[in-house]
Amino acid sequence: MNKLKNKVAIITGANSGIGLATAKLFLKEGAKVVISGRRPDALAEATKDLDGDFITVTADVSKPEDNKHLIEKAVEKYGAIDILYLNAGIAKPTPTTDISEGHYEETFNINVKGPILAVKEALPHINDAGTILFTNSVVHQRGFDGMAVYSASKGALRAYSRVLASEVKGRGIRVNSIAPGPIETPIYGKMELTNDGLEELEKGFAAQVPLARFGTSEEVANAALFLASDDASYINGVELEVDGGLSQI
Ligand code: NAD
Repeated sequence: MNKLKNKVAIITGANSGIGLATAKLFLKEGAKVVISGRRPDALAEATKDLDGDFITVTADVSKPEDNKHLIEKAVEKYGAIDILYLNAGIAKPTPTTDISEGHYEETFNINVKGPILAVKEALPHINDAGTILFTNSVVHQRGFDGMAVYSASKGALRAYSRVLASEVKGRGIRVNSIAPGPIETPIYGKMELTNDGLEELEKGFAAQVPLARFGTSEEVANAALFLASDDASYINGVELEVDGGLSQI
């Protein structure tokens, strides 16, 4: 119940899916949570029944000034940060022949630039022995049709996280990533696919998973709690797959 007692955690993309499940679990485990999302209405709706010590901050992670604002609000309320969980992300399947500059920029601005700028803003305020977590994906470990730019963005984030882990090691800050496989969240409804296309994609993913199903947001949140807590005190620089075996078997 108290694995994160009095720890201050920031979670981006926390009004939905994996981020929201993690915010709920972190609150249950005694953390003070800064719940961030891009849309104020969605943020208000998602948090209206939550119990615990939390604030909400509206921030579009693709905007430098919003990352600054997010960290300022967190520090203003709670003083310092113990856990920075950069989870917000988008995935819009697009065949390589259809990739546009706009698709590339939108994906990289949210999935790569956002977390990198948030870390830069947050680092001076992260307590020594704190922890930074990213939601990555198994997509950059294998080739999934239509996922070129998304996979490239998650691969870039993985490479970045290794360098970050090295640069902050002197402060005892652990940097880890979670690589979900297919997880049942609203992200699939935002992919701009037809119903048939979406069904085909979902069936295809589930069929490839050794456990033969989608995972749940709560299963990913459990991994986030583990990596953020002292249970993972000697785990650093890894990417933990939460994927029913998809990436390995
Ligand atoms: P989701 O759509 O439910 O959640 C994504 C969150 O990111 C939402 O809260 C959304 O508002 C937020 N977001 C998107 N753009 C933003 C922006 N510009 N600024 C601030 N917030 C923004 O989907 P999810 O599946 O919970 O996704 C969370 C993370 O998990 C993402 O990084 C995604 O790439 C990753 N992931 C998901 C799956 C899956 O199958 N669901 C698999 C692998 C990785």
